[in-house]
Amino acid sequence: MFDYQLKLSKRRKTVAIKVTPEHVMVLAPENVCHVSMRQWLATKQSWVKQQQLKLLDAPSLQNPMSSRTLLIFGVHYQIVVDAVSTSSICHQKKMIFLPQSLTENVKRLRATLIQLLVNELAKYLDEHLTQYAEAMKCSISSIKVREYKSRWGSCSSKKALTFNCLLLGAPKHMINYVIVHELAHCHVLAHNAHFWAIVEKHFQAHKQARRWFKVNSKSLMIEYNL
Ligand SMILES: [Zn+2]
Repeated sequence: MFDYQLKLSKRRKTVAIKVTPEHVMVLAPENVCHVSMRQWLATKQSWVKQQQLKLLDAPSLQNPMSSRTLLIFGVHYQIVVDAVSTSSICHQKKMIFLPQSLTENVKRLRATLIQLLVNELAKYLDEHLTQYAEAMKCSISSIKVREYKSRWGSCSSKKALTFNCLLLGAPKHMINYVIVHELAHCHVLAHNAHFWAIVEKHFQAHKQARRWFKVNSKSLMIEYNL
């Protein structure tokens, strides 16, 4: 039998089980028969175990303060707080250097990390977007990189592209998928068959890429309260 905390309530009519990452809570009416409740709970053992495993598997947002790491191109870069005066990323050592003073202000620290991601993704787009745009015969009016809560990129009817800086945490071929996806919108704004045909021509594994984002999107996000 699993460990649980029992919470009795006058207003409850039925017994319920609540599974959280920390513990199992059983909510029951005040006058519940403890013998039959325990018998019922015993039948729920495997369900409880399953729920707990599911919660363990669920990806959580990045917290660079507690993990001292940040995802860049699919790799956990180590965050090194040093006597440096400016923050920087070293791809060779897979490290991110931050000045000591930043750790006293988590808001500024988060903003600094975001700015590093913005600059670095802008650099990556500079180096890689042009060749895709040429191959896909797109003429873009502008590219903007910033943090978004719920999108990886967008393309307006005026062919202005935006990209979420948190994309930098994804492996490079996944970033390339988003580039191809947004460029395809230069030709077709809707997600229709014509649109996917253009995507497929320039990024064959687009179905796998979409699945990857479904599974991993959350783990690229950075918590607000570091
Ligand atoms: Zn789209």
